Amino acid sequence: MRWWPRTVRWQLIVWLMLLEVLSVGLFATLLVNIERREIRQRALERLAHQANSVALQAEEAYRQQHPEMVLPSVRMMGEAPSVAQAKITDAAGNVLFVSGGEASASPLEPAEKAQIALIHDHEPRVFSFGNNRREGVKAIYDGANVRGYAWVETDHSWDTEQVKTVFRSSFSFGLIWIGASGLLVLLMSRSISRPLSVLQGGTRALMEGTSAKFPLPVTVENEFGDLIQAFNRMVAVLEEQRSGLNDTLSLLDSMLANAPIGLVFFDRQCRIVRVNQVFAEMTGVALSRHLGRTLPEVLPERIATRLEEAVRHVIEAEQPVHDLELDGKGSEPGAMWTWLVTTYPVRPTPEKVRWVGAIVMDVSERKRSEDALRRTEKLAATGRLAASIAHEINNPLEAITNLLYLLRRFCQLDSVALNYVTIAEREVRRMSEITQQTLRFYRQSTLPARASMEELLDAVLAMYSARMGTLGIAVERDYDPSLDVFCFAGEIRQVISNLVSNAMDATAGGRLMVRAHRSRDWVHPQREGVRITIADTGSGMTREVQGRLFEAFFTTKGATGTGLGLWVSHEIILKHHGIIHLRSRAATAGGSSGTVFQIFFPDNEELTSRVLAEVQVASKE
Ligand code: ADP
Ligand code: MG
Repeated sequence: MRWWPRTVRWQLIVWLMLLEVLSVGLFATLLVNIERREIRQRALERLAHQANSVALQAEEAYRQQHPEMVLPSVRMMGEAPSVAQAKITDAAGNVLFVSGGEASASPLEPAEKAQIALIHDHEPRVFSFGNNRREGVKAIYDGANVRGYAWVETDHSWDTEQVKTVFRSSFSFGLIWIGASGLLVLLMSRSISRPLSVLQGGTRALMEGTSAKFPLPVTVENEFGDLIQAFNRMVAVLEEQRSGLNDTLSLLDSMLANAPIGLVFFDRQCRIVRVNQVFAEMTGVALSRHLGRTLPEVLPERIATRLEEAVRHVIEAEQPVHDLELDGKGSEPGAMWTWLVTTYPVRPTPEKVRWVGAIVMDVSERKRSEDALRRTEKLAATGRLAASIAHEINNPLEAITNLLYLLRRFCQLDSVALNYVTIAEREVRRMSEITQQTLRFYRQSTLPARASMEELLDAVLAMYSARMGTLGIAVERDYDPSLDVFCFAGEIRQVISNLVSNAMDATAGGRLMVRAHRSRDWVHPQREGVRITIADTGSGMTREVQGRLFEAFFTTKGATGTGLGLWVSHEIILKHHGIIHLRSRAATAGGSSGTVFQIFFPDNEELTSRVLAEVQVASKE
């Protein structure tokens, strides 16, 4: 119904109009019908009366012997507005006088003639015939004899004109009535439609969140006014609730965004519905790309399946799972992740678990430090053990050396036996060298002192000599025997040991070059010091590895590496205000590869003493 109005106001008007048209129409029809019947009744009586009066006048004229008087009275009757024609006939029905003159004289029609037989007494008779024609007729008596008949035919248009007048006046009255009441409703309905449109605007503003329109103006004093007031109160309450909700939401949001833990929420299909920034950083996938996805779509397989299992378990058992440790490959190459996860059910109503929340903590770093600490601890313990064994062996070795000396002096030995003694002496010397070095290596140097560079480098190389022999690495040494430097010897030894051991790990059947020279700082040429170069012809490193080399725990050696060697070395070098510099080329098809580390230590007693002072202050704190 496209024409049907959409506002209450116009619907009201249309309904009212329809109702009024119907009722006014009905009323008019009824009125016209009653009126028409009335008019017809009156017309019949009038006809009878008119026929009677013409007959009486004719009788009177005949009685007075003035038949010429008949015609004027017929004519007079013909002049009456409701009469179409009046006429006098003789008893046989021949027309004698007619109101319209000779011209309109016509013989009686058969329907009229048929009436004659039906007229018996002095009563006038009224009948209808032809097309809506009505006629009154009355016998004219001459004593007891019928002398003729008086006929009066009514003017039908006069009657219909009367009915039309009634109809017209009731129609105009109806129109005026409808118009007036329409106007009234139009005016009155404003008091409904105005507040309604105010309310409608208010509802829209409420939905769009434009609070500027409130409170709505109360323009009427009726139920609608009350309704608008109630609406205003409702909006105020809603606004209060909404701002409370917003506060809570922003609190929650800030919590989600700033908590230093990963937070994820899953629906019952294990799809991610919400994550925080920390979790996105943990997975390395953009925050928005998590939404609607399952864990295997954003995480490496092992961790994803295990976390998903935990989520499913919560959905089925409706119980939280606490402190689950998950580990697996990370998304960056070579990385291992360890996550501590707590999953718990989220239920908006007590009956059903709707979501599952997960609190995720990345404990990879902690795990790695624990592992590294454990390994370092083990190494240190082994070192201490080695030192104490060396110490214990040292005394018997002294004794053996002395005994061998005595044995050599023994005159009963032949040349073969003497040769054996020489070999034994050599081996014992080697043993004591090893114990000496071991002891020196693990002795903590608490004070900086002048240390011979040659001694330092040789001690390290000696320690690795057996392994280098097995790996087939040829060592080239190039250092000045008189070179010494003021330093913490133990720490410098540790740096060199780390670099040499890395070079050995990367090289098999190649060469290792160790150089040490007096030199100047290549950044600040006024600083003098020592430059140590350790170069290998090993595998070399890619740019990516070079970029991360000095990070703690960065290793490409899997379980056998700690990733701490270079990190510690870097720290030691910085502590000595030194510089470490690296050049490396990874093996490419056909090309040679290798790595060169250069370290510069400033040889500055004053500086080194200051460093020592700083360290002491720091350790007291
Ligand atoms: P780790 O030796 O325990 O792996 P480091 O900190 O000593 O830890 O070394 C870090 C990484 O640097 C090594 O895993 C290795 O990939 C690389 N690296 C260090 N020195 C060399 C070298 N001389 N040749 C090739 N790679 C090296
Ligand atoms: Mg190493």
